[in-house]
Formats: sequence, structure tokens, C-alpha cells
Amino acid sequence: MPLSGLEIYKLLPKTNCKECGFPTCLAFAMKLAAKQADLSACPYVSEEAKQALEAASAPPIRLVTLGGADHKVEVGNETVLFRHEKTFFHQPGVFVRVPDNLPAAELEAKVGEIVAFKTERVGMDLFVDGIAVQNVSGNADTFAQAVATVRAKTKRPMILLSENPAAIAAGLAKEGGLAPLVGPATAQNWQEMAKAAKAANASILVRADGDLSALAELAENVKAAGVESIVLDPGARTLYGNLALFTQLRRLALKKNFRPLGYPLAAFPGEGAGSFEEEVVAAAQAVAKYGGIVVLDHFDPAAMYILLTLRLNIYTDPQKPIQVSPGVYEFNAPKPESPLLVTTNFSLTYFSVAGEVEASGLPAWLLITDAEGMSVLTAWAAGKFDAERIAKAVKAFNVPDRINHKKIVIPGLVATISGELEEELPGWDVRVGPREAVDIPSYLKNVWK
Ligand code: SF4
Repeated sequence: MPLSGLEIYKLLPKTNCKECGFPTCLAFAMKLAAKQADLSACPYVSEEAKQALEAASAPPIRLVTLGGADHKVEVGNETVLFRHEKTFFHQPGVFVRVPDNLPAAELEAKVGEIVAFKTERVGMDLFVDGIAVQNVSGNADTFAQAVATVRAKTKRPMILLSENPAAIAAGLAKEGGLAPLVGPATAQNWQEMAKAAKAANASILVRADGDLSALAELAENVKAAGVESIVLDPGARTLYGNLALFTQLRRLALKKNFRPLGYPLAAFPGEGAGSFEEEVVAAAQAVAKYGGIVVLDHFDPAAMYILLTLRLNIYTDPQKPIQVSPGVYEFNAPKPESPLLVTTNFSLTYFSVAGEVEASGLPAWLLITDAEGMSVLTAWAAGKFDAERIAKAVKAFNVPDRINHKKIVIPGLVATISGELEEELPGWDVRVGPREAVDIPSYLKNVWK
């Protein structure tokens, strides 16, 4: 539970020496409580007070990292129940599970297909975070061999799944030491499982089906055994059950600051789903509602695109729109006589327009103005995409040095600024382009002269 300003004050030296930059210890305490100052600014704070303050300021949901050589997954550290309250910080890791009893060549091909998947949205690469290997065979050697095959194919984070600690230990020996997630640790196996995880510096998945008290007790036991990097599986496998338990766990961690359950959550949407479509729906629910690790049982590029796009949308900070850098962008090797279009630096706007211009196959220049990441109409309404700003961008990015004409195409949605822009850019011909990006190719082919 965070401490109040007065509670923090009681832990400070109370000498009012001002060395922290504040006039009194109380003022400093108030700033600490508001998270506007750092405790290290006071050189006289005791070790005891430091520990108390650090414990109180620890995040209510622990950050867990799954390692990889070229990519890592960080989950947890969330602070709000609803994205609009602030933002969600660490997007869930999306994994695909493979069974260890597949023939090696088939396993290799399957993993190859999963890790080769990559798509792009608003300038960001979207891909599967890693592979989970399930000990379906029940054999430790088969499991270890499958882990080795997967690791040889990809250096992305892995999850090793078996209730047999000996199989987990054998798998860890082949995993490559990249700090995977292993488990599940249950009431029956947690001691051995914790031992194996601790020895490999791995995170541990703790499972207690539907019983949160048992889940909390297990997590505490595992922590006491020396593994603090924990992911919880409350064992629900229905849409309703998962939503109810995940929400309850998130509330307990954030609202009650209940540390034994303050860990990221794992979802297995394929278990309990009657079809692939149901699995995707359950995965989408887990992405939207508090899943930290989402392990799918099937891989389909179209479904993966949907899930990763959903994840991107939910985990984008609503107060910080994704932006591209203002400037002049070239498409299809433009020449001085090629058309010049202008729009804002909101990523979705840029990539919609850029995609259409590129797809037209026609050379063009695209001037991107700094509209603080807003879309065309929003920016115009907020005074961030007006004639003055566009004219300034034309000059700032030396547009006249690149083209041999004085024509500029503005988005059809802001046709109203054409007159003002002609005043700001004397001698220029301001053309009103399409309202929708999808109509740009036709405009460039049939209207632009
Ligand atoms: S430096 Fe420490 S002791 Fe001095 S005023 Fe600030 S909080 Fe108080």
C-alpha cells in the first residue's frame, strides 16, 4: 500500500536541512508521496526508512521478464484496472504452443512458420513473441529434445510446460539459459519445480484451479523457495470463468494491494475452446482483460494479425498517439514535377495515405506536418493543422528545392483552409484532394495534372 505524505515524513530525519532541494522534510515527504521526488535526494535517510519506503513503493503487480537473444517479453507492472485511467504498460506476450511428440522435422517446420510470421501496422513490426513446448509425451528425454529443436530454430522467449519437474529440468538444460517461463508448479510439485526454476534463473508458472487462496499460498511458497519471478494461472478455462478470475485477481492486486497475488496472469485460450474460432475469441478476451501471457494452441496468420492489432490498440497510451516524424517522404522515386500531398503526422493517417500513394505506383511527395499526432479533422479542429502550420512546414522542409511547380494537394476533409493556405503561400495553387485515403490513387491517375 502506498504511504501517505505524513507516514513518509515520520521516516525522514526531520532536520529540515534543505539539501534535498525542498524547504522542509515535510515538503519533501509530500513530493515523495506524489511521486514527484526521488528518495535518493535526501542523503540522511536511514537504511531502515529506505527499506520501508521501497517496499511501499514496489509495483502492485510484479514485472516478469522472459528472456530471448533478440527479443524479450516483459509483463506486469500494471497500475490501473482501466486503460483510460492512465495507460497499460506491458503488453501481453503472445505464444504458440507446440507438442513435444511431433517428429523433429515437423516440429522444426511448424516453429519455422510461426517465427517467420511478421506483419506491420502503423510502422511497427508485429510478430509472435515466442514458443511454448508442452510435454505431451510424458517423457523427459523427448521433451528435452523438442526444447532443443525449438531453441535451434529460434532465440525468442520460450515457455516449458510439464507437471514433471524432471522433464522441466531436462528441458532447461537444452533451452540455452535465456530465462524462460516454466511450470506449472502445483500443490504436488512446487518444491521440485521451484528448485529447477531457481537453478536456471527461470520464471515460474503457478497453477491452482479455481482456488485463489490455494493460488496465493502456492505463490508464497514458491517465493519463499527463492523464485520471485512468478506468473499465475488460476485455472479457469471458460470465457466467463477466465474473465471473472482475471478481473478478481487484478482488483486484488491493485485495489487491495494483496502481494501474494500481485503477479502477471497466464491464459490458455485453446483449453476449453470448442473450436479454433472460440480459441481466438478467448485469446482476444485475455489480451483485452488482464492476460500477461497468452498461449495459443493453433497458429493462423489471419487470426494472429487480429490479436496482435488488438493488443497494439489496447496497449497504446491514449494520451500519446503514435506519431511519425514530420518531413518530406518520397514514394515511387518522385521527380521535381511529381505531385505534392500534405497530411498530419498521426501514424494511422500517415500509413493510410502512404499505403495508398505507394500502391498507386505513381511517383509523389508527401509532406508530413507536426500536428502533435492528431488525425486530420481532429488536428484541424484543435488548430494544429491549419494554413499557417502547413506553410511553415513547406518552408522548414525546403519543399521548393525538391519540386519545380507550386501545387500542393490538401486533404479533402480540410477543403475549408484552401483560401487561407493560398494567402500563406503566395503564388501557390492549392488543390483539394480526396476526403478518404483510399481515393488517392484514382485522384493521382485521373485528376492531378
Ligand atoms: S535532505 Fe533529508 S533531512 Fe534534509 S530537508 Fe530534505 S528530507 Fe529533510
